[in-house]
Amino acid sequence: MHRSGATMAWNVFKFCTALRGLGSIMILLVLGVVGVTYYAVVLTNYGPALYAGGLDSLVALAVLILFHSLLVMLLWSYFSVVFTDPGSVPPNWKPMIDEERGEADPLVGTEFSNVLSDPNQRVRYCRKCNQLKPPRCHHCSVCGRCVLKMDHHCVWVVNCVGALNYKCFLLFLFYTFLETTLVTASLLPHFITFFSDGEIPGTPGSLATTFLAFVLNLAFALSVLGFLIMHISLVAANTTTIEAYEKKTTPKWRYDLGRRKNFEQSG
Ligand SMILES: [Zn+2]
Ligand SMILES: [Zn+2]
Repeated sequence: MHRSGATMAWNVFKFCTALRGLGSIMILLVLGVVGVTYYAVVLTNYGPALYAGGLDSLVALAVLILFHSLLVMLLWSYFSVVFTDPGSVPPNWKPMIDEERGEADPLVGTEFSNVLSDPNQRVRYCRKCNQLKPPRCHHCSVCGRCVLKMDHHCVWVVNCVGALNYKCFLLFLFYTFLETTLVTASLLPHFITFFSDGEIPGTPGSLATTFLAFVLNLAFALSVLGFLIMHISLVAANTTTIEAYEKKTTPKWRYDLGRRKNFEQSG
């Protein structure tokens, strides 16, 4: 019994080390997908179409302007999630409760006072960091530290998604969805020509890149849409991904402030 527990802990540790090693490779992978897409959309298909004349040039110009603006927003939000600290526990943090009156510190805000004065809400302690854990804080075994309002450790951004970078993460999902949908729609006519009998213009290399970019962007658009819907419903209920699992046992979610306030707090 003891032995199997130790083996499992070791396996989890190995998994986390693998995730840490994966770090920079995932950033290169994201940049690689962006590169393939850029080559297919700008250099192979819509760049040359600018000189086609007539309506084709106008469509190409519109696609290129939209593609580049969304790309800037996507990369900006992506690197914001990568480089923003998700939120760490301040050193020597203690729950702000007035011990004499048994009331929460007014600076914490009224929405938390019922949480802190809740006798069922015991203060948690992280044995790995040797410190107290504020409410909604979780220890991330990949980052090796406690993260405030931790949502999940995201492999794609090589960072935890927590209190301070959640908004950037939502924007990243949003712009990725818009960009991949635009690319899928704009490459669709070129993709269809693969399966037509007529003569296909272009070198085998550019055709393969167009094919790959279409398949990748379609796959990303569909999976990111799923994530986006999931996270919008999580924000509407003021819940993190981790808490969504815990919530199944709680009848009334204590952080639910009503849909509007929940959205305001997530920013
Ligand atoms: Zn910790
Ligand atoms: Zn983490």
